[in-house]
Amino acid sequence: MAASAYNKPMTTNQPNKGEMLYEGKAKRLYVTDNPDELIMEFKDSLTAFDAVKKDTLAGKGAINNQVSALIMGALNASGLETAFIKQLDDTHCLVKNVEIVLIEVIVRYEAHGSLCRRYGIEAGLPVHPPLVEIGYKNDELHDPFFTDEIASLMGLATRDELAAIRYIALVTGEKLKEIYASQGIKLLDFKLEFGRFTPHRADGTQHAEDARIILADEVTPDTCRLVDAKTGEKMDKDLFRFDLGDVGEGYQKLLERMSGKAD
Ligand code: 5GP
Repeated sequence: MAASAYNKPMTTNQPNKGEMLYEGKAKRLYVTDNPDELIMEFKDSLTAFDAVKKDTLAGKGAINNQVSALIMGALNASGLETAFIKQLDDTHCLVKNVEIVLIEVIVRYEAHGSLCRRYGIEAGLPVHPPLVEIGYKNDELHDPFFTDEIASLMGLATRDELAAIRYIALVTGEKLKEIYASQGIKLLDFKLEFGRFTPHRADGTQHAEDARIILADEVTPDTCRLVDAKTGEKMDKDLFRFDLGDVGEGYQKLLERMSGKAD
């Protein structure tokens, strides 16, 4: 079935794709008949530097959907709750309907990217213990890094939620390192987003006291800095950001590795 043909359920177990709720740079979200669940569609767009650099890559949405499903599924199976429920088809998956917290969390195991640019740190410097940085999710302001104090001053999250976010980010990082390492891939750093999930009660109401912070969005080569553990070959969005090689080939290789289809 063509990915774009996801309009009607394939079986009675498949959710209905309703109105589009939101369109971002890389994904679209659609309502379903269940208020606690949304359908997420991965687009073929590639963007970098707050969408100043843009392109389209046929098949990229399908690769990211599959990589994210493999990783989020493994995180769920390990007992770490994520917003991912199940993959629906090539480019769609079913997710929990969370309120996105406007905070981006970056965890680093080696110095690369903006850490080196900002502070003149040599690329490749090991970061022990891992560094957790938080930034304001706001493209117009270029996702500026900030402190927990500023995030809570802005009302983006409570201090308890920030503590939970930092803790979940580090636990997720340990699991991600293991998942990638088992496929011969080294995780250098990554970005996570979190959501507040407030499931509806049986009477259809939602209550703030039921809200919990869970890992949301995606975990893909768009959001992780990844290299082949043996060769150092890049397998992530830096290929596109800095014109370092064939993005489609890098992403495809990553998917083959992650799904156990590589030689
Ligand atoms: P850096 O801050 O070095 O540019 O990025 C650190 C890590 O976070 C990289 O793995 C990068 O892919 C990810 N990252 C940081 N900001 C963003 C963003 O706005 N979008 C995406 N997709 N990834 C980001």
